[in-house]
Amino acid sequence: MELLKKRILEDGRVEEGNILKVDNFLNHQLDIELLDAIGKEFAKLFADLGITRILTIEASGIAIASLTALQMKVPVVFAKKTQSRNLDKDTWDAEVFSFTKDTTYSVRVSKRYMDSNDKVLIIDDFLANGQACVGLKKIVENAGAELMGVGIVIEKSFQKGASILEEAGVNLKSLARLASIHDGQIEFVD
Ligand code: 5GP
Repeated sequence: MELLKKRILEDGRVEEGNILKVDNFLNHQLDIELLDAIGKEFAKLFADLGITRILTIEASGIAIASLTALQMKVPVVFAKKTQSRNLDKDTWDAEVFSFTKDTTYSVRVSKRYMDSNDKVLIIDDFLANGQACVGLKKIVENAGAELMGVGIVIEKSFQKGASILEEAGVNLKSLARLASIHDGQIEFVD
């Protein structure tokens, strides 16, 4: 997606540990016009699959999932990272290992909001080592639902997430694919 790649080159900042900061349009301040274009692109890429729900993970996935859902006219469910009193006790759970934080945390979705009738599209901001998406995929499987695809805004193709998902037979579509981010230089795969 050319508009997104242009924005990454203009505003992306490469930080230590192979981290790309895109805080001024995706991860902190939100550029809703750009996110709207992203939502339209995902809706086009995953059209005609009979998707009934979009699943994402709090917090950064929620905005893009919402703008995609607006186009697809389906609800968004976001997996919660904390157990709170507001959340139903009966949940589908999965463990996620975070390489950036070097910790494991649980994510959960109320059983009210996913079941075996669902055809699910997972949406997230970044794909790095794939652990967040693998956790969400597990929730879909535990619910007996069908995973129709995974839509990623920025795939770091030099990390192993994309191959993990592709080897698992996942229909993965990423809008920008980074080949490398060495020495502050951002290179795209295509
Ligand atoms: P994974 O589970 O694929 O290793 O990592 C996915 C999550 O880690 C994303 O949802 C995102 O929050 C975070 N993440 C991984 N790499 C980056 C990065 O380079 N920049 C930012 N902003 N977040 C990242």
